[in-house]
Amino acid sequence: MGENSKELTRIKILEPLNPNHSTAIINGKTSGILNWNDIPYPSFYRAYKELSTNYWIPDEVDMKGDAKQYPQLSEEERYAFDAIIGLLATLDSPQTRFIYNIAEYVTDPAVHANAAIIGQQEVIHNESYSYVLASITDLKNQNRIFDFARTHETIIKRNEPIMDAYNDFMEHKSGETLVKALIQSSILEGINFYSGFAYFYNLVRQNKMTGTGKIISFINRDELAHSKFISEVIRAILGENPELLTDELIEYTHEAFKHAVELETEWSSEVLQKIEGIDVDEMVDYVKYRANKMLGMLGMDELYPGYSDNTMTWIKAYADNFTETKTDFFEMRNSSYKKTNIDNGFDDL
Ligand code: ZN
Ligand code: ZN
Repeated sequence: MGENSKELTRIKILEPLNPNHSTAIINGKTSGILNWNDIPYPSFYRAYKELSTNYWIPDEVDMKGDAKQYPQLSEEERYAFDAIIGLLATLDSPQTRFIYNIAEYVTDPAVHANAAIIGQQEVIHNESYSYVLASITDLKNQNRIFDFARTHETIIKRNEPIMDAYNDFMEHKSGETLVKALIQSSILEGINFYSGFAYFYNLVRQNKMTGTGKIISFINRDELAHSKFISEVIRAILGENPELLTDELIEYTHEAFKHAVELETEWSSEVLQKIEGIDVDEMVDYVKYRANKMLGMLGMDELYPGYSDNTMTWIKAYADNFTETKTDFFEMRNSSYKKTNIDNGFDDL
């Protein structure tokens, strides 16, 4: 075992003998007391402001229209609706547990604070799937959908690489397992949600299930902030611990993204093929664009030359609603909580 397998130290809850200003992002020293005005990475405070001002709860959204429309969806539309709600729940539920466990092995208390908010938001996301389903269907069907999520073969296959890396980290806490788990986490947050989001936005542009679409847009905004923060943490860890940035890690990352894009393609072909308004090839191009963008955020080379722009033009109309200056499609009233000086980076979804 080399340097990369070095054990990570678990944080102490409070250690008054250590300084408040964290000495390193991992395996460092800190008292655990957080003064946001004196932190090693000021960008983590910007992330905190972005995360915390995104606050929303599903109950704000009126689901009466969706309740009427759900039984009127075509069989394909309803199947995709159920499958995607189930899929999204399999992403948000484990992410709550993961982010909590990760935080215990990162020294910087600013990361712990942001992880607490991310974890809380994943809980809300998960609740919102229960809320959506409770608004439109009976308990038996709700349970069928949540069961489907854990038994559907393509969903299991999709989640496997992520859960393998998460479990490796849980079993052996080293710099290497941490970085790999965070890379898989950035795939979960930055790739795996997006064909699901696009499906709901496609319904909204046909004036269907707009309550669900509004909830999805809140989740989308949160996930963008999560993936951005996670990539900042990865860059900080690799920056402070260059021995972790091996050729093997770069190869692992590229393979992981490539595999995620293949799984997303398989899923889209299976679930979205017959959905009116969705062009599966266009969807795959969009996912490749997302992969390039995420790799760029990690400071790594892109995988798909020529996919540096979002060619799925209609989805931009929804992405643009994350900024205050543009037309507010969903009339997101909680967007007014946001301060204008925060660089939210949502223009280029
Ligand atoms: Zn989430
Ligand atoms: Zn998330």
